Amino acid sequence: MIIVLEKNIQKADKENLKKFLQSNNFNVNEIDGEEETVLGAVGHLAMDPRKVEIMPGVSRVIPISKPYKMASREFKRDNSIVQIPNNRGQIIRIGGMRLASIAGPCAVESEQQMMDVAKAVSSAGAVMLRGGAYKPRTSPYSFQGLGEEGVILLKKAGDKYGLPVVTEIVASEYLPIMIKHGVDCLQVGARNMQNFEMLKKIGATGKPVILKRGLAATIEEWLMAAEYLLSSGSKDVILCERGIRTYEKATRNTLDLSAIPVVKSLTHLPVIVDPSHAVGIRSKVPPMALAAVAAGADGIIVEVHCNPDKALSDGAQSLFPEQFDKLLRDIDVLAPVVNKETTRIRGAVVNLNTAAKNVKDGSQPTQTKVSCAYSGSRGAYAEQAIMHYFDGEAESKPCANFREVFQAVNNGESDCGMVPIENSLAGSVYENYDNLVRFEDISIVGSIKLRIEHSLLSNEGSSIDTIKTVYSHPQGFAQCSDFLALHPTWKQVECLSTTAAAKMVATKGSSDVAAIASVQACNSSENCKKLNVLKCGIESDPRNYTRFLLISSVTQNSSVNSVESKLIQLLQPSNGIKMASFAFIAGNHSGALHESLGVFTDLDLNLTRLESRPIQGQPWRYMFYADVELRRNGKNFDESETATLLQAAKEQLNKTTEEVHLLGVYIEIN
Ligand code: PEP
Ligand code: MN
Repeated sequence: MIIVLEKNIQKADKENLKKFLQSNNFNVNEIDGEEETVLGAVGHLAMDPRKVEIMPGVSRVIPISKPYKMASREFKRDNSIVQIPNNRGQIIRIGGMRLASIAGPCAVESEQQMMDVAKAVSSAGAVMLRGGAYKPRTSPYSFQGLGEEGVILLKKAGDKYGLPVVTEIVASEYLPIMIKHGVDCLQVGARNMQNFEMLKKIGATGKPVILKRGLAATIEEWLMAAEYLLSSGSKDVILCERGIRTYEKATRNTLDLSAIPVVKSLTHLPVIVDPSHAVGIRSKVPPMALAAVAAGADGIIVEVHCNPDKALSDGAQSLFPEQFDKLLRDIDVLAPVVNKETTRIRGAVVNLNTAAKNVKDGSQPTQTKVSCAYSGSRGAYAEQAIMHYFDGEAESKPCANFREVFQAVNNGESDCGMVPIENSLAGSVYENYDNLVRFEDISIVGSIKLRIEHSLLSNEGSSIDTIKTVYSHPQGFAQCSDFLALHPTWKQVECLSTTAAAKMVATKGSSDVAAIASVQACNSSENCKKLNVLKCGIESDPRNYTRFLLISSVTQNSSVNSVESKLIQLLQPSNGIKMASFAFIAGNHSGALHESLGVFTDLDLNLTRLESRPIQGQPWRYMFYADVELRRNGKNFDESETATLLQAAKEQLNKTTEEVHLLGVYIEIN
């Protein structure tokens, strides 16, 4: 049963309640949700919920109707996120808004094979390395795996590239070997899904587990197997759909894609997909991996081999590294469509203000949450961008407008800020271009693209026909122009943000007003919760993306080892496109802009964006903004190449322009 606690429950009452449940043989788990704290109590014997309901501090009791208790959504409403640390002090997160890619060969064969494949998959963007050391083969005459030596080689390769490792456990007697050699995650294979004695022993180790769906297991049987793990001590269980037996012989198994949304509605556990064992044919793996992501999977686990024709097992379904690399690039493109962000091995999240002091002292930065300012209130698109950029690990701070975001960063109230800079439908957010030059000590330290879906939010009792006035941010109006053209009589009132518009409509409470905002804006205040979605997806084109800039007052410095550049590295993810942004005033003579842009041509830098803005107080004079890629042949420049090129660019621009600013060097995600 789920026991919802009163918000202000006394500590002693909570302890008392826990003791009471434990003395009645209930296993008790406290779950802190965003809105309420609950106790999940699972026991062998049923208890009359009224006995608990009358205890002090209890708000209500909800019985769990499903046979699987701890695995069910009733037990925990929010998605669980499994956290697996690597050997670099970073944490790989699976679940929530992330898409994780796990890759490696079917079986560990040799040290060289593992080193080669680990290098390939980590550079493509995998966050965990797989490889079987004990193989459950159909024939006793097939390669059975290298055993303990295989575990050692897997871990060695994972450590070299910062990848935690996952390997299959086929019998509980091998658990001590797995633990001794530091296996980060245990895989329970399809053939062992219902090996209940082994599940109990694995649960007792407390290690993260990937639980594959059995060859012919129903979804309920699969969740009951997860329940064995959870009830015996596992906290981190990841479910893996890997295809089931059907009458179809064209593929090795039949990938049950519909299981993904079904399972995700029944459980809070992350669900990943193994398209390799599902289809058994290399060319069919990437399309099914993409389909799995589209269906809502939290990640994929894929077999990759540098020389699949020589593989000792499952060569026919193993991808070449180039195919895996292309697959991950395709997933990157698909991710914003399903409102997810690909998990990458990124720099540790630190508090910049504390870190600045520590780097100066020479001590290690302390691991605390970054604070990030944004314009709008809870539920704003910029807040979603912060969640995506920092994997939900930053503290977001609402501000009244863009200028306040820059000010909060400038005077150190916030470590960084997230501001929109351009939208694929409505174009540039000019105010922020101006702010980038106005606030001289602020630099761009990151960039991320977010898919924007707008809805028409209104009060109870309204319909499209009752609406007379719509509230939104000017960008909201611009991005929904086709929809608004269908309603020419509606009055449009501009607000500071889309969430401010939602609040305005909720406060008015009448049936003749509506707001254009995200569905999440309904969570922006208690009052907004009563808003209804009158129509969703009203943006003129579903391919509607906004690019946000992460700004910080850490100044860019061409010296590679400066305190600043160290701090910037801490904030930057390792994957993505390295960029530099410049602002300059071209000279006032014929060919002046051509000369300035020629600097980038001479240095062989790809210019990806050019924008111009009138300079305040100087009519008919313009500031140009240029973004260039700091990469060649698909590879980002390293620190020293970057420093040399930027130095050269600055020197030459100084000659050809009247004024030049380097606005930032950063990684653009997606
Ligand atoms: C494997 O992942 O190597 C494996 C044997 O998978 P499954 O248990 O899904 O067949
Ligand atoms: Mn295999």
